[in-house]
Amino acid sequence: MSGKGSYTNINYSNDCLKIINSTFQKFLDVHSVNYLIELEKTLEDIGTFFDLDRMYIYYFSNDPTFMKIECQWNKKGVEPKRELQEEEVVYALPWLIREIKNNEFVAINNINEFPKEAIFETENFSKEGIQSSLMVPLKNENKLIGFMGCERLLKSITWEEEQINVLRDISKIFSYTRSRIKKEKEYENALYGQAILLNNSESQIWALTNVTSYATVNEAHAKFFGKKKSDIEYQDLYDIFDIDTANKLSEVNWELFQRKGLAKKEVQIKNFKGENRLLQIKSKPQRDDNGNIKYLICTAEDITEQRKAETELYKAKEQAEAANIAKSQFLANMSHEIRTPMNGIFGFLELLQSTNLSLEQKEFIREAKSASEILLRIINDILDFSKIEAKKLAMEKIKFNLRSTIEDAVSLYAPKAAEKDVEIYTMIKEEVPEEVIGDPARIKQILNNLISNAVKFTEKGDISITVDCLEEENEMALLYFKVKDTGIGIHSEHINTIFNSFSQADASTTRKYGGTGLGLAISSELVKMMDGEIRVESILGKGSTFKFNLKLKISKRASDYKLAFEKLKGVNVLVVDDNINNKKIVSSYLRETGFNVFEAADGANAITTILSNINTKNKISVAIIDYEMMDMSGYELATTLKTIPFAKDIKLILLNSVMQKCDTKIAKEYGFSACLTKPVKRNDLLSCIAMVLGLKSEVKEENLARVNKVDKEDKNVLKPRILLVDDNEMNRKIVISILKSRDMSCDVAVDGLEALKAVSNKDYDVVFMDCQMPVMDGYECTSKIRDMDESKKHTTIVAMTANAMEGDYKKCIEAGMDDYISKPINFDTMFNIIEKNAKEREITGDYNRIIEDNIDYFARDTGLEKDDAKEILEDYVKCLPDLIFSINAAIDDKDFNKLARVSHELKGSSGSLRIMSIYELAVKLEEAAKKQEIEKCIEIFIKIKDLCNIKRSK
Ligand code: ADP
Repeated sequence: MSGKGSYTNINYSNDCLKIINSTFQKFLDVHSVNYLIELEKTLEDIGTFFDLDRMYIYYFSNDPTFMKIECQWNKKGVEPKRELQEEEVVYALPWLIREIKNNEFVAINNINEFPKEAIFETENFSKEGIQSSLMVPLKNENKLIGFMGCERLLKSITWEEEQINVLRDISKIFSYTRSRIKKEKEYENALYGQAILLNNSESQIWALTNVTSYATVNEAHAKFFGKKKSDIEYQDLYDIFDIDTANKLSEVNWELFQRKGLAKKEVQIKNFKGENRLLQIKSKPQRDDNGNIKYLICTAEDITEQRKAETELYKAKEQAEAANIAKSQFLANMSHEIRTPMNGIFGFLELLQSTNLSLEQKEFIREAKSASEILLRIINDILDFSKIEAKKLAMEKIKFNLRSTIEDAVSLYAPKAAEKDVEIYTMIKEEVPEEVIGDPARIKQILNNLISNAVKFTEKGDISITVDCLEEENEMALLYFKVKDTGIGIHSEHINTIFNSFSQADASTTRKYGGTGLGLAISSELVKMMDGEIRVESILGKGSTFKFNLKLKISKRASDYKLAFEKLKGVNVLVVDDNINNKKIVSSYLRETGFNVFEAADGANAITTILSNINTKNKISVAIIDYEMMDMSGYELATTLKTIPFAKDIKLILLNSVMQKCDTKIAKEYGFSACLTKPVKRNDLLSCIAMVLGLKSEVKEENLARVNKVDKEDKNVLKPRILLVDDNEMNRKIVISILKSRDMSCDVAVDGLEALKAVSNKDYDVVFMDCQMPVMDGYECTSKIRDMDESKKHTTIVAMTANAMEGDYKKCIEAGMDDYISKPINFDTMFNIIEKNAKEREITGDYNRIIEDNIDYFARDTGLEKDDAKEILEDYVKCLPDLIFSINAAIDDKDFNKLARVSHELKGSSGSLRIMSIYELAVKLEEAAKKQEIEKCIEIFIKIKDLCNIKRSK
């Protein structure tokens, strides 16, 4: 039906208005669900009204180079234009699209109207059999979003203005409605998305308008109380919940509102099952334009399980800590328990060694001792390692002599190295500070480990220990230690794991050399704890170099030592040694002190050097001569020098290895003034030179301590007074026996109380005090002794304990003790302590006077030559101090039996030597002792002391 042919103009126009109106009505509030149905219907109405064959609507896709038909109507019998939803490329019809973009409409009455450039369109239209077509752009906010098309297939049509206007108006309704529905859909989607998030969230979410009024809530919150969202939303708490819950919630809400900002609170509240749950609520106020709180947005997590787990974890942690403490305690106890029997093993082996044994038995003991030492080292390693693991190892910060710490560590392994014929050198550079602040025991432990490994893994060649000071800043010295060996080396693949615990280079190493693989792990941890670094370089079969650095505070500079040896500056010294390294080290120590140093590689060279300098300012004053050289021995060289008139006054010092132990008597016969043992310690070397040059008084006493002086004087020293306090019988037995082996004795107390009594009755040189004892322990006893001491005197108390855990030393010192020896006891240390403290009691007697007063009478009476008589008298006076000490002790102890016995002894010896003055007093003393007359005994004893002119030096 042709629109115009069948209607009058008016009717047609009315119909057109009607169709616009009805379309407008339909789409004004069409719901998105019905939109497409209504659209299709409307296209049909319009198409039918205008007698068209087809109507369609294209919309551009999000990517505007594509478009697709959203809706189409095709007259009955007419093929659909496209399958719906099929995407097409926009620029398949380039001319048409351009025209649509730039015009209000594009009307093609006839296919022949296409301009020339519309090649694709012409082709397309003819292919699809389209005669006429009208296309109206669809726009939203002036942006082209698609177009509506109307087609005639069978017959062409001339598009009329009115028709075009109607279609344009309708297209506006379509594009408006499409945009509205699209927006609504987007909004709906957004809301739906939010609802999904809110209602599926495990967290509870709600908004409050005031303390008791809810706004909106999510499912989780409603579910917690066993309610629906709608039960709670926009309701008052008191209308929803039981009174307890409502009260509790309003109380919490009030607090959260009060905080005015972000707030957090934990609340215990019952859920719908009546279970107590712990909620962690977080809130944030949302404010209006005036800054008033509009909503309080709250979220809550149920942390009941989490808290339970945390509590469990905390409990487990506490249990673990308790277990750790128990472990440490166990270790301390174990260490104590192991050390006590080890003390027995060491002690009795030591005692056994001094008895009459066959060579084979002696060898067995040597082996047993060495095995016990290894066992002790392993125990110490495990203990240290556990302490490090339990972070229980604390570092000390004390002043100590770094040089002697290093030298002592080397000395310890020098005999072992010498046994293997491996040379060991120490080179401590001049810049290394003399005294530093740190932990000497731990530094020594690291060195001990590295040096012992070097000795263990080296069969030939040498081991050198070098220490250098790399830089000094703010009184801190950066020290660099190097332990280098020429041993078996380490395979490159093991280098990285060597510092791990229980790590050994390979199984065969373990089999051959033993060890626990803990030493380096401990050393590396110790270095780390001192903020240093440790590493190793090694070539398999060639040797290894372990290096570590430490930063330590300087307490006494390196140069300070030079002041003590100022007088030695410029002295000409000759060093004779065929070992280049050794010669170099000795010479460098001498040069840095200011000596004028000459070197000779053998005896012949030494003689030439001495002779060529005889009449010059370089005349040699001191020669340091190695014991063993290629061309002649040290002794031979000394003999030769003594025969050369110009050389015989040169002071000679013999340098021998630990294995060659200096026989001072023989050395003296060969003309040596002193012996030094390799590896040479710098201060010993300097002290020794000072001593042989007669500058002893210029040199501090401490520097002389270790020099092996050839013409050592025998000192008459009273026997030290020792008190041993120990509850363990075996320990007591050992100490007593060891003391006896050196001709010493001690008093014994089995607990602190007995010790107190003993100390109040007698003035001891040293008290060896066990710490753990029944009745009164060592700590309490020490503090009581200190109270007794007051300012009058100071009793030296040395802890002798098997406690070796961290803090034990500190505990002893804090209790007032002076020193500490751990068990198993190192007896050398014990005797050093005794010697140090007994020295104070050295006595001098004018024995020459006794000899002078009595010799004539004795010689005459016995008919002896005066010289022989003198010798006998000299022997007698040598015994006098001991006898007098014993009398003194017996009087102190009121031990009359002993007093009578010793007096009898004195009576006998003085009687047979015709020393009548002493003899008569001894007779009286014996009598008084037998009668137990203490006053008289003391009176006689004072007379005897006067006679001998004995007085305590202190
Ligand atoms: P241990 O010596 O008790 O086995 P360490 O931790 O001291 O334990 O050493 C671990 C391993 O490192 C040794 O077993 C050895 O394989 C290797 N090692 C350590 N020092 C040296 C060295 N100077 N030369 C060669 N190998 C070494």
